[in-house]
Amino acid sequence: MSSLFIDGQQCPASGGQSIVVHSPVTGEVIGEIARGQAQDIDLAVNAARRALNGRWGQQSATDRGRVLVRIGEAVLRHIDELADIEARDTGKPLTLARKDIEALARYFEFYGGACDKVHGEVIPYLPGYSVNVVREPCGVVGHIIPWNYPAQMLGRTLAPALAMGNTSVLKPAEEACLTSLRFAQIATEAGLPAGVLNIVTGFGREAGAALAAHPGINLMTFTGSPAVGVAIQTATAANHVKCVLELGGKSPQVVFADADLDKAVPVIVGAIIQNAGQTCSAGSRLLIQREVFDQVIERVAARFREIRVGLPSSAPDCGPIITQAQFLRVNQFIQECKDSGLPVLAEGILDDNLPAGGYYVRPTLFGPVPRTHKLAQEEVFGPVLAALPFDDEDDAVALANGTDYGLVCAVWTENGARQHRLAKRLEGGQVFINCYGAGGGVELPFGGVRKSGHGREKGLLALEEFSITKTIVFHHG
Ligand code: ADP
Ligand code: MG
Repeated sequence: MSSLFIDGQQCPASGGQSIVVHSPVTGEVIGEIARGQAQDIDLAVNAARRALNGRWGQQSATDRGRVLVRIGEAVLRHIDELADIEARDTGKPLTLARKDIEALARYFEFYGGACDKVHGEVIPYLPGYSVNVVREPCGVVGHIIPWNYPAQMLGRTLAPALAMGNTSVLKPAEEACLTSLRFAQIATEAGLPAGVLNIVTGFGREAGAALAAHPGINLMTFTGSPAVGVAIQTATAANHVKCVLELGGKSPQVVFADADLDKAVPVIVGAIIQNAGQTCSAGSRLLIQREVFDQVIERVAARFREIRVGLPSSAPDCGPIITQAQFLRVNQFIQECKDSGLPVLAEGILDDNLPAGGYYVRPTLFGPVPRTHKLAQEEVFGPVLAALPFDDEDDAVALANGTDYGLVCAVWTENGARQHRLAKRLEGGQVFINCYGAGGGVELPFGGVRKSGHGREKGLLALEEFSITKTIVFHHG
């Protein structure tokens, strides 16, 4: 059974209980993780507080940056091992897992280099005064991350937090936490002091809820479902703690009649099948100008029919879904769409001889989907693409902005003026013009509006989220 990681040490959960881990590839039991609970969270938060008050908190930004860069290098040295763990734990193609580990390293390089470039401000004020605004760590940060990109999420939330001098308590998803645990050992060997990073595995309703409610937390970050986002905000509100939340999306790909389809079609299909559609920023709605609807659909459908679902080791387009529960949920969603009469435009291929107990879902393209249909509004979190026609630019904007979510948008048009108009009018944290970046780009600030959450991660903006300003006023006459 794997352990918790508290104060630089591996330790069992204080209740001695465990959670069974199943392989997404075969459905078989492949191990157990420790079932951390409130008392373990308490130990972890206390260790993080001690580390904040100790050496880590006293270190210069330059030295912190060096530690982060060394962690990035160590991750790359262990890339084969970490990619293997990530692929086994999540079922994602090994090729994708490798990219995810590279991204994990990249987060530590990027924020390691940024540590000592965060400057304060000097404000002109009244005669006889000098005013400095400095950025300080928030303190102890709580991180709750999901199972779809465990390694990337770890880097995305942890690296900027540590860069700003905070210390961390992380609750990975019970479905996939093995990479986080191995990472903690690698980071410690690379020079991360004890207590700076603490990991408590366990169920969301136990360890996760205890973390969000802990009065020793100064900032909470969460990526997951909107419903749990509400629970997290409710818990942190009791302690007046700020939350950074990323809660998924129903991101549109808007294709105009003048789009370059040779360029667009492979990207559009890639943006929904990447990680078997289990991506917050998956491009899950394909909005097509009516006059070219059939033409675009024909090309997207042809590509969809070539999507291969297979074993992670066989470089498939899609691996299995993460758990049996998600597998059943996604299949049920697809079945409901079929039962409601939605036309199936194309389906992908399941490799022969896949293990019977594995969680393999057939990628499906539906369309035209009515605007009020569940598939046009709700996140599936699986390889399912909804195609909808629109009439003109105004209609495209209304349709693209017409869900509760607002995370990522893409526009495909060769008309430059339209590109700029759409970039302004589309609602979301990122807009891509003639490209798409589901999950990519450590440098690019990312986050949502409305039900997709609030706060910004990635890029230099994350350093503002993970720190707090102090205004210092001197009166010298
Ligand atoms: P999913 O539906 O994909 O499992 P969740 O939002 O349920 O997404 O889970 C994302 C993360 O939030 C996981 O680490 C999970 O353990 C955690 N979590 C789930 N429920 C709670 C809760 N009530 N309080 C805190 N964390 C939770
Ligand atoms: Mg859940």
